[in-house]
Amino acid sequence: MNETIAVVGAGISGLLLARALKARGKDVVVLEKSRGLGGRLATKRVEAAVFDTGAQYFTAKSERFASMVSEWAAAGVVAPWPGASAHRWIAQPSMNALGKFLADGLDVRREAKVVKVQHKLGGWELTIENQLAQQAGHVVLTAPLPQSLALLKAGDVDLPIEWAGPLAQLSYHPCLALLLTLGGASAVPAEGVALAEGPVRWLADNTKKGISPGKVGAVTVHLSPSFAAEHYAKTEAELAALIVPGIADWLGAPVVNVALHRWKFSEPVAAYAERCVWLPELGLGLAGDALGGPRVEGAALSGLELAERMVGKAQ
Ligand SMILES: Cc1cc2nc3c(=O)[nH]c(=O)nc-3n(C[C@H](O)[C@H](O)[C@H](O)COP(=O)(O)OP(=O)(O)OC[C@H]3O[C@@H](n4cnc5c(N)ncnc54)[C@H](O)[C@@H]3O)c2cc1C
Repeated sequence: MNETIAVVGAGISGLLLARALKARGKDVVVLEKSRGLGGRLATKRVEAAVFDTGAQYFTAKSERFASMVSEWAAAGVVAPWPGASAHRWIAQPSMNALGKFLADGLDVRREAKVVKVQHKLGGWELTIENQLAQQAGHVVLTAPLPQSLALLKAGDVDLPIEWAGPLAQLSYHPCLALLLTLGGASAVPAEGVALAEGPVRWLADNTKKGISPGKVGAVTVHLSPSFAAEHYAKTEAELAALIVPGIADWLGAPVVNVALHRWKFSEPVAAYAERCVWLPELGLGLAGDALGGPRVEGAALSGLELAERMVGKAQ
C-alpha cells in the first residue's frame, strides 16, 4: 500500500499537522494552491508598502499552543505586537513569515491546486491543475471546509452520513480587506482599532506595526461580514469611495493608493464541536478552523489533534 500522506493546504493547520506526522517518521507531501505559504496568515506588498491582509495577530490561550508560541518566540519568528495592550502575537517581520518557518524541511508543492480527490486502487489520487496527479495512501484536507467538501464531491467520495450532514452546514463569512497607502503618517492607534458598528470592523497601520517600511501609513481595513457579503464584487475604487470618507479621522492623512484582497472564506460562522475528523476506514482526515475554532489557535489545535488521531501521541 502507498504510505504517503497527502495534506491539502499549507495554512497553519496543514503545516502543523504535516510537521507532526513527519516527526513521527511519516512520508508527507503538502499540496498548496498558492505560491505563498501560511494560508490566511497572509502578507501582500503593494509598491513600497507591506500589508498583513488576513489574520492581524493571534492569541495563545491554551497551554499547548502557548508553549509552541514560546518556542517560536525564542526562534525569533513571532513577537508580541509592539504597543498592543492585550497579549497579541504577530509573526516577524510579517504574518506570512510563520508559514514559511513552519514549512521549512517539509515537502511542499506550491502552486499545486487540487481539483479532485478520489479513491483509486485502494488508496487515493489527487488531481492537480496543470500538474501530474499525486497518489497517496491517506489524504488530509485543510482548506476552508466548503472547499474541502467540494474536492470530495468532485471525486464522487461520499462521507458517512453522520458526518456529511453536519459538515455540509458549516459556512464562512466573507471579508474584504482594503489596503490603503497614505500620503503621510496615519492617526490609527499603534495597536489597531476594532469598531463595533458600521461597515468597518478593523483598522491597523502596518507601518506602526513595524512591517511596512518608511514613515507613511499603510493601513489594512477589514470590512464587516454583512458589508462584504453585499459588496463583494465591487472594485477597490468603488469600495474606497464608500468607505474612506467615514474613516478619514482615523486615517489622518490622504489616501494615495488603494488595493483590495477579497477573502471568500474568512472566518467560520460557527465552529463544529469536534476539533477534527479522522475516518480510518477511508484513510481520510479533515482539519482547519471550521473544526478547531474560528481563529489561528483553533486551526493550529485542529491540525495537531488530527495528527495525534492518525498516529498517536508523541512520547
Ligand atoms: C481577514 C481575516 C482576518 C482574520 N483575523 C484574525 C485574527 O486577527 N486573529 C486570528 O487568530 N485569526 C484571524 N483570522 C482567522 C485565521 O486567519 C484563520 O482561522 C487561520 O489562519 C486558518 O488556518 P487554516 O489552516 O485552517 O486555513 P487556511 O489558512 O485557509 O489554510 C488553508 C490552505 O489551503 C489552501 N487551499 C485551499 N484550497 C486548495 C486546493 N484546492 N488545493 C491546494 N491548496 C488549497 C489555501 O490556499 C490555504 O493556504 C482572520 C482571517 C481573515 C481572512
